[in-house]
Amino acid sequence: MGLRPNLLTRRVAGVATTTLALLLSTAAIGVAPAAAHADHADEACVEPADTHAHSKIKVGGIAKHEPNELTPQQVREREADLAAVLAARAKRTDLKQGPVANASITIPVVVHVIQRDSTRAGGNIPDSMVNSQISVLNQSFSGATGGTATAFAFQLQKINRVTNPAWYPIVQGSSAERSMKTSLREGGKGTLNIYLGELSDDLLGWATFPTRRLNSMDGVVVLSESLPGGTATNYNQGDTGTHEVGHWLNLYHTFQGGCSGSGDGVSDTPAEASPAFECPTGRDTCATAGVDPITNFMDYTYDSCMYQFTAGQASRMLTAWNAYRAA
Ligand SMILES: [Zn+2]
Repeated sequence: MGLRPNLLTRRVAGVATTTLALLLSTAAIGVAPAAAHADHADEACVEPADTHAHSKIKVGGIAKHEPNELTPQQVREREADLAAVLAARAKRTDLKQGPVANASITIPVVVHVIQRDSTRAGGNIPDSMVNSQISVLNQSFSGATGGTATAFAFQLQKINRVTNPAWYPIVQGSSAERSMKTSLREGGKGTLNIYLGELSDDLLGWATFPTRRLNSMDGVVVLSESLPGGTATNYNQGDTGTHEVGHWLNLYHTFQGGCSGSGDGVSDTPAEASPAFECPTGRDTCATAGVDPITNFMDYTYDSCMYQFTAGQASRMLTAWNAYRAA
């Protein structure tokens, strides 16, 4: 089928000479067009760092955007905001205080399948792949694949099929992406909107972090062929979806910040200097304790290599849920 004719070559050729291009969806690109939209007032209240998205790319993917992970300043801003939200929340008497141990949260999911036409190459993946993706999310976040059980489960509410060549591929940071999300997004802060389609720049996916005020850009974008049974070789077991939902629940990459500083803000994911690709067992890029967490969902390894969240990540997600997404 027509999935990136040059991709396999690029992927294979890129193994030895991979350029680590983590993408930055800049706030400027995403926010500027919002002036024309009715939700501008809400978005004007969103902290700049909160509008940064995080992207996942394939091995050897070559992107035209800035290589990135969040800058230390962006991480500081996000962490300060989270602390402020939690402090304000702690003063409220009408809310449960802090994360609830073993809380069970079922997240409603709306899946938008963006298609160019009715062909598989044009994005028309079967419902069975979407259902399998939801199953993968439930397995991943429940610890069934070998990691820590988190508080989260996922329930598919709706598959919304949209044929619109103007939104295909979904181009990260484009006005078309904004138009698509503004038109299609459903539910409140606690509703997970997943947009599936062909993606720009050889991307596997990207996601927004939680924000104080609901932003129409909120959600997760995933390459449709990365769903279980898809054609994205080595990335077709649904773990891109898990990775992006991890961001949506406030997780950073395990390689955030490299070897120094607070890294990903989680104490039980050993620091690593850079993203890991494929499945480099035993990789150890930092002098600090522990080998690189290449099996963590928030690294960049093959789907067959990643299978876990940690207890620290589970706690971080639950804290963020209570701060930002809980009703
Ligand atoms: Zn990511």
